[in-house]
Amino acid sequence: MRSLAEVLQDWEAIIGLEIHTELTTLETKMFCGCKLSHDDEPNANVCPVCLGMPGALPVPNEKAIESIVMAGIATNCEVMRRSMFYRKHYFYPDMAKNFQTTQGPVAFVMHGRLDLEVAGDGASERPDGTIEKASDGSYVAPIRILRIHMEEDAAKMNHLGGSEGRIGGATESLIDYNRCGTPLIELVTEPDLRTPEEARLFMEKLRQTFLTLGISDCSLEHGSMRCDGNVSLRRRGTSELGTKTEMKNLNSFKALHDALAYEICRQAEVLEGGGAVRQETRHWEPSRRRTVVMRVKETADDYRMYPDPDLVPFDLSDEFIERCRARVPELPDAKRDRYVRDWDLKRYDAARIAGDPDVAGLFESAASAVDASVVPMVAKVVVNLAFGREDVNAAQVASLARLLAGDAITFAQAREVLEAVAGGDGDPEHIVDERGLRQSNDVEALATIVENVLRSCTEQVRQYQEGNKKVVGYLVGQCMKASRGSGNPKLFSQLLTQRLQS
Ligand code: ADP
Ligand code: MG
Ligand code: ZN
Repeated sequence: MRSLAEVLQDWEAIIGLEIHTELTTLETKMFCGCKLSHDDEPNANVCPVCLGMPGALPVPNEKAIESIVMAGIATNCEVMRRSMFYRKHYFYPDMAKNFQTTQGPVAFVMHGRLDLEVAGDGASERPDGTIEKASDGSYVAPIRILRIHMEEDAAKMNHLGGSEGRIGGATESLIDYNRCGTPLIELVTEPDLRTPEEARLFMEKLRQTFLTLGISDCSLEHGSMRCDGNVSLRRRGTSELGTKTEMKNLNSFKALHDALAYEICRQAEVLEGGGAVRQETRHWEPSRRRTVVMRVKETADDYRMYPDPDLVPFDLSDEFIERCRARVPELPDAKRDRYVRDWDLKRYDAARIAGDPDVAGLFESAASAVDASVVPMVAKVVVNLAFGREDVNAAQVASLARLLAGDAITFAQAREVLEAVAGGDGDPEHIVDERGLRQSNDVEALATIVENVLRSCTEQVRQYQEGNKKVVGYLVGQCMKASRGSGNPKLFSQLLTQRLQS
């Protein structure tokens, strides 16, 4: 098969995502009072409603509707005044009542948009001229959202003996109804994405947004956020949509990206060989890096959708909508811009921090504990050392940043100190003193090291004299190594340059 970048020269990839998010932060299920928890004993949290017993009546969860309206507001959707629930019929043991309660043509929130900032390097770039690009190739892609609708999750099935958890080859299947009836919101994008990288960025941005709203733990790994990727190709310069395939089992950002990339190349090969793409659902097999057919697409008619007679239409009041709007916190883009404006952070660092509410909280409380001039160093510590760790607190980050900003320790030493802090060895100041980790600013001692390094690196010295100034970086690295990470790298660099120019 040809490479993605080559294929995208001839073909335009049209991608749309369907993203399911379980509202895991709620306490109860969508239509009954059962506890929302996936960790309990199988089938511990069930009742006649979520087991689909005849005559059991659903009672909608108001908090779940608040969450979906907040999700809609955060993604620039219109809140629909009136919407309803429908029954979507199918037979499978994961839903005991034999229909899923979901929404029909009108969802709670519709017609939204998220803007993606795409770095635009290599294969992540749109090769077409439909979007204006900045001088560095980056661009903003507006991605329309068709709708976000409310539905309920099905039970979890465990197919014993099947391959990769699939039913094929299974000899026995276990069902856990704890998950059945979990409030689930499904976001459907318009087919506006054009590259696997854009799809990945969309998913990432949505995850950051939902995490910030606090409506879900958004774990791709544990399936509380799940993504299906739809993709079709059309010849560049044409406007008619081609036949799409839909991919399931995209349970990581990498899987989403790689499955779409594979599928784009596969479809190009089929089409270039004179064949036709079949409308089908395919399954991504990460271990074999390919997609395989799962089933040919059922049509909407097969589901016998009709309004659920047990649930009256929802009329959302202005007061309800305004209450939801007031609960939407500062969103990642606004937070990033504020960090850049108020703290002079690098845009990339600011975006990384603002994307995760826990990291943003850590950063903000550490930042408020130091002088303004030290805040960019706090950001550096958070992004490069503390990211994703739950074992360090704001006071420790602030103290590390102060030590670094005051040139008391090097970054390499900061990493060691952080490990010790996390291991419970005390606060950073204490660890630095106890281990004698202070950065050396002793010019004479450092100059001796510089002499030794220059003597053994004759090749690099020759290169420098031939005009390759970049070798200084390598030589600083050698000096750092010789000082076992304790020398001040800025001083090393100055001393080296002085000596090399003399
Ligand atoms: P289906 O009825 O097969 O579920 P939908 O019309 O509901 O299809 O669309 C599902 C997703 O597929 C949406 O995200 C939509 O943007 C996307 N999509 C629709 N048509 C195409 C196409 N021709 N190529 C790529 N994506 C598409
Ligand atoms: Mg659909
Ligand atoms: Zn129940």
